[in-house]
Amino acid sequence: MSVHPIGVEVSCDGPDPGTDCPNSAAVAATFTSRTAREVRADGRTQGWTVRRSPGRLLDLCPECH
Ligand SMILES: [Zn+2]
Repeated sequence: MSVHPIGVEVSCDGPDPGTDCPNSAAVAATFTSRTAREVRADGRTQGWTVRRSPGRLLDLCPECH
């Protein structure tokens, strides 16, 4: 396991919890985004959505939501 130098990576959880994203997509975070919250804000500008499910958040790329 390695530490990502720019912070967190938000990757796609879609299209549903039992199926991997066909694109293996991850948010392209800006250089200044270091927290999951900031990276998710970057994702929203790129068409990503966040869906609430019990106990966690599901991040969905533009292809999966
Ligand atoms: Zn996806």
